[in-house]
Amino acid sequence: MDKIYIENLEFIGNHGVFKEEKMLHQKFSISIEMETSTRRAGVNDDLNHSTHYGFVSDHVEKVFFSKSFDLIEALGEAIAEEILVNFPLIQKVKVLVKKPWAPIRKQFDFVAIEANRQRNKAYLSIGSNIGNSEENLKRAISLIDSLKNTKVTKCSSFLVTEPFGDVIQDNFLNACLEVTTLFTGVELLENLLNIEKEMGRVREIKWGPRLIDLDILLFNNDIIELDNLAVPHPWMCERSFVLDPLCEIAPNIVHPLERKTITTLKRILDKSSN
Ligand code: ADP
Ligand code: MG
Repeated sequence: MDKIYIENLEFIGNHGVFKEEKMLHQKFSISIEMETSTRRAGVNDDLNHSTHYGFVSDHVEKVFFSKSFDLIEALGEAIAEEILVNFPLIQKVKVLVKKPWAPIRKQFDFVAIEANRQRNKAYLSIGSNIGNSEENLKRAISLIDSLKNTKVTKCSSFLVTEPFGDVIQDNFLNACLEVTTLFTGVELLENLLNIEKEMGRVREIKWGPRLIDLDILLFNNDIIELDNLAVPHPWMCERSFVLDPLCEIAPNIVHPLERKTITTLKRILDKSSN
């Protein structure tokens, strides 16, 4: 990927944990590295197809003077978010915040933090079989779309599917969504669980009836193995109620562990269940 750089923007500010730092002010030096394609602007010699580094610098300055941050971690985070929110052509950003006059009784050039942030793309499976399932899915989609820095960019059709497992229950309505977000995978999961709760889901029987179920299928190309989050979703390849709607919106996405496209995974599943 191509890059645009801004090297060592200098500002005097009052960021720091100590009250002396808040009073006396000190020098900060900020470098930005932005991943984007410069090809269209390069071929057309047209700024409309690129990101103006002058405007980016203005946004960095605005964040820098917006408040007194205790931590350069928080300052770097706020700058990265500001850039990703305001400059749609930037896919990834690296923000380096240097503090050359940090209060340490030692000889050193600077202390610094580096924050690497990006636009994330996730695929979700959503399902419901209690109450008005169609309304439940629509409400969930609207709540996901209104999460901070998160947009639902694609939605499959709503498919009526047979329940999974041994519990006798009503048919489900299932769909898949493509979502862009600045949340990490774990943060997105926390937000989805909150939406489930807000909509009134109570967890009773495993694989039992549910008002709303929101699962993360894929998150970028990431492989996540944590106590509360497994991505790619461990059972997605065995479930046609996941692969059928997912294939509508992401037929050519490659599953990072199976290394096969969703279309191929669906074909394999369809064959095995016939
Ligand atoms: P399921 O969706 O498997 O029927 P639940 O919706 O009751 O079960 O979720 C139980 C837990 O599964 C959640 O609290 C969450 O921590 C965990 N979990 C692990 N991986 C995922 C994932 N990829 N998407 C959603 N939840 C997940
Ligand atoms: Mg779930």
